[in-house]
Amino acid sequence: MYVFPPTISSVPVIGREEEYPVHRIYCVGCNYAEHAREMGADPDREPPFFFCKPADAAAPVLDGQVFELAYPPQTDDLHHEIELVVAVGKAGWDIPVEKAGDHVYGYAVGLDMTRRDLQKVMRASGRPWEIGKAFDHSAPITAIRPIYDLAHPVEIWLNVNGRRRQHSDTGKLIWSIPEIIAHLSRFFMLQPGDLIFTGTPAGVGAVVRGDSLEGGVEGVGTLRVKIV
Ligand code: MN
Repeated sequence: MYVFPPTISSVPVIGREEEYPVHRIYCVGCNYAEHAREMGADPDREPPFFFCKPADAAAPVLDGQVFELAYPPQTDDLHHEIELVVAVGKAGWDIPVEKAGDHVYGYAVGLDMTRRDLQKVMRASGRPWEIGKAFDHSAPITAIRPIYDLAHPVEIWLNVNGRRRQHSDTGKLIWSIPEIIAHLSRFFMLQPGDLIFTGTPAGVGAVVRGDSLEGGVEGVGTLRVKIV
């Protein structure tokens, strides 16, 4: 029993009645070289890294529907970051790269929405990124496609108002999916329900109220968001 009802964040699973309960959301920063450069980092000198969003930042976007994302407070520079998301299905600690695939439940398409102005202020002062990254509904996500082996590399793209903003393929990830899982599991006990946003390609930019975002990952899904 609880003093008030607990919050359970969950995401639909394609082909299942049951939903995927979200345990944690991990995100990889600067995992595509061109994006690292556009953020002022040097991908040859600084490896990718992790940060987190709260589980209830996940905002499920059903197939064929448009998720209306309220422009968040305290920012004038809300950015899109389209990402391939890995859904973890099996617990593990210190997972070897060659065993990482055993821990994948499926894949989804997500947006790591970012209050870039706040992130930059915090980054410049060496402070945590939460106010820039971990706000409510900051992680719109499609239903999870329960596939064990995604045939990499696959295309990843994002249009804003019908114009291409981001376009790359998962072959350009600095840390591959198995490497991400292996790295992350050295620092945290991975659990079923953990979502891992694997990083965004170059072309991030601002959106404003009224903008329509459509993004996808080949073989995984398509996501539509309108900023309201
Ligand atoms: Mn990101």
